[in-house]
Amino acid sequence: MEGNDWNTGCAPDSASADRSLQTSVVQSRYPPATNARMKAYRIATIPGDGIGKEVVPAGREVLEALATTSSTFSFEFENFDWGGDYFRKHGAMMPADGLAAIRDRDAILFGSAGDPHIPDHVTLWGLRLKICQGFDQYANVRPTRILPGIEAPLKRCGPGDLDWVIVRENSEGEYAGVGGRVHQGHPIEAATDVSIMTRAGVERIMRFAFRLAQSRPRKLLTVITKSNAQRHAMVMWDEIALQIAKEFPDVTWDKELVDASTARMINRPASLDTIVATNLHADILSDLAAALAGSLGIAPTGNIDPERRFPSMFEPIHGSAFDIMGKGVANPIGTFWSVVLLLEHLGELDAAKRVMGAIEQATANPALHTRDLGGNATTAEVTKAVCELLGPSARRKAA
Ligand code: NAD
Ligand code: MN
Repeated sequence: MEGNDWNTGCAPDSASADRSLQTSVVQSRYPPATNARMKAYRIATIPGDGIGKEVVPAGREVLEALATTSSTFSFEFENFDWGGDYFRKHGAMMPADGLAAIRDRDAILFGSAGDPHIPDHVTLWGLRLKICQGFDQYANVRPTRILPGIEAPLKRCGPGDLDWVIVRENSEGEYAGVGGRVHQGHPIEAATDVSIMTRAGVERIMRFAFRLAQSRPRKLLTVITKSNAQRHAMVMWDEIALQIAKEFPDVTWDKELVDASTARMINRPASLDTIVATNLHADILSDLAAALAGSLGIAPTGNIDPERRFPSMFEPIHGSAFDIMGKGVANPIGTFWSVVLLLEHLGELDAAKRVMGAIEQATANPALHTRDLGGNATTAEVTKAVCELLGPSARRKAA
């Protein structure tokens, strides 16, 4: 498979699309489609739990609508019913040989792991983290910006002032899974979660983040740290940032403590562009970022194996949303934007742009806002609208 563009559906208008054409290093890695040979991409869909079961089928519909308008690619989907229901039947979130079943796919579209009747650490570690870590998807990429028509909570922030990509270390750190519990249930009970940072792990995520920053118009990177309090691993993190920065002399970068960075996101959003942070820090910051851009229901993410040894996995950043599951009101936009990231990963840049365009036309219309955005639209209505916006042949097929 070819190429990659971590501009990530972030070109909001044609002006910045042009900018990204001029500046994108990655652009040259995408050979233009030279012939009409039909590519059939093999996509694994894993809806998982809760509203994942509503938004992933919606994402698939969008991909299918898109394929009807393309003479160069199509999709072959296979659905995997892993998650809480599978756990109740089989005692595990996914089969022991599950990774082997999806290993040869071009990409994975994922919903959410999380069931009201199963502990969260069991569902998360049994499915999502098993895939992310099993496929060494070490870079978690989270673009955020304020889409047209979305009312974002920051009063002093115009749409152009908030255009970020958060890069989350996705393979180690606070979520390394190292630790244990002793004396369970006794007064002397003790428990540890040990954060593991490796030089190789930090170097590769820093290099990925600098390269992504370099591919974006502002060439600006902020490295989030907490090396004042965490004096071992985070100090190494800082040192490695300094070292990798030397490979990217054209990238302007700075360092910010994680607590201070929350205030900066709110007070000076335009001072940020690309942001790199540890697994835990970026997890928290990206929910804040999503809320600042209007809703958790909009935010997308890609769990990327940049070396392409394994399939990468794309998912909305939200979870199972127990409070609204089964009601048909989940916002599918986060999944659609994740579909954009998926298409970019496949090298289908034009298709990615078209889907992003359809998303923006949908959000610009208040009648297509779901409840989380203050509207009344259903998941199905938004999905239908986006499919229709994708073009005339998509419309014919849907009719
Ligand atoms: P959540 O994202 O499921 O929900 C938080 C709030 O946001 C809820 O009020 C919900 O209704 C709202 N919301 C989220 N997505 C929405 C959408 N698409 N449209 C409209 N409203 C939306 O987070 P939570 O409540 O902390 O977690 C619920 C479960 O999901 C837990 O089991 C958790 O572990 C799991 N979870 C899984 C993932 C994942 O698999 N990637 C991510 C986060 C949470
Ligand atoms: Mn999270």
